[in-house]
Amino acid sequence: MIGEKVDANCRACRSSELRSVLSLGNTPLADALVSSEEVDGPEATYPLDVAFCSNCALMQILETVPPEELFCRDYPYFSSFSDTVVNNAKENTEHLIATRDLGKDSFVIELASNDGYLLQNYVKAGIPVLGIDPADTVVKAALDKGVPTLERFFGLDLARELAEEGKKADVIHGNNVLAHVADLGGFVDGIAIALKDDGVAVIEVPYVRDLIDHNEFDTIYHEHLCYFSVTALTNLFRSHGLYLNDVKRLPIHGGSLRLFIEKKDAPTDYIKQVLAEEQELGIDEFDYYRNFGQNVEKLITGLRGLLGELKADGKRIAAYGAAAKGATMLNCSKIGTDVLDYVVDRNVHKQGLFMPGVHVPIDAPEKLVEDMPDYVLLLAWNFKDEVLGQQAEFRDKGGKFVIPVPEPQVV
Ligand SMILES: [Zn+2]
Repeated sequence: MIGEKVDANCRACRSSELRSVLSLGNTPLADALVSSEEVDGPEATYPLDVAFCSNCALMQILETVPPEELFCRDYPYFSSFSDTVVNNAKENTEHLIATRDLGKDSFVIELASNDGYLLQNYVKAGIPVLGIDPADTVVKAALDKGVPTLERFFGLDLARELAEEGKKADVIHGNNVLAHVADLGGFVDGIAIALKDDGVAVIEVPYVRDLIDHNEFDTIYHEHLCYFSVTALTNLFRSHGLYLNDVKRLPIHGGSLRLFIEKKDAPTDYIKQVLAEEQELGIDEFDYYRNFGQNVEKLITGLRGLLGELKADGKRIAAYGAAAKGATMLNCSKIGTDVLDYVVDRNVHKQGLFMPGVHVPIDAPEKLVEDMPDYVLLLAWNFKDEVLGQQAEFRDKGGKFVIPVPEPQVV
């Protein structure tokens, strides 16, 4: 029930002031693609319940799936498969190299460095780097690119080891990792230890304000334990002796924040303005989150209704984007093989597998032009411009896309 007090402690501040925001039912792990041998076997599901802490203003899910189950499988996400992600990383690193005067005597660490998509920019500029990532497949891809990478989880222990070896960083990157961390306190303490006194941690997280404004409920899944506002982040870092001094809003992943965290308390005028905006919105109060659940239910009903009408008209429907948010959208909306013929994805490691839970098969994007389904549900709506550009031929031939959020729309 929305608004009900929850029997749990906050992931960040340990307070018991948690109230229920939304329940998305039991769903499989959103990245756990299913092979053809597994498709008839049992599949683990976990509750997906969202709550809000009125003490530190952090929205979070209640279930913690062990990280070994989430991240140490044959992890299928390669950052380099997305032009948007690669370009965002390039812009980010070029700006830092110029403004912080980084060179061969500098040292850059990236947490959750994936396949080296970001650090390769520093390597090309002759700046020493270390990537850290627990997933063996992406670590291998990074090493093949010449990006030194440790196959480890980052936390307090590894930070202390690095500090003892004299490996403190001028810049610590961490994109889309903070929300994944079960031991949030240990992770932030680790950043404080691994960072030089005049260093900066540059961390990207999805912005809860964009999530709620645009009904992006499909970005809520078991990997994402926390959903951050600038207010919540300011509280978090301060309680570990770090200061969130500046922030940049990015369109990537449906709306993200690039955070600039230092060891001195020196907030920019811009972050003061963002904090004032959040205050105005009431982002630290439960009322802001109350309607979110109802809006999500309305969206799901609308999307199911639209796709149902198209099927009733005899239309053929496929989908684009076999990522975690796609699995969440399909499982929470109960859109399966009765509606979709297949899902396409650029990642060759996913092709031939099946979406978790709903078991829709995954194929290559080229199939859209060959097969010409009438409609394609764009599960990867966060890469809308990129995908619509790539699929110009499909659209020229009369193919249509259904964009599910912020409300279902045909283009
Ligand atoms: Zn809290």
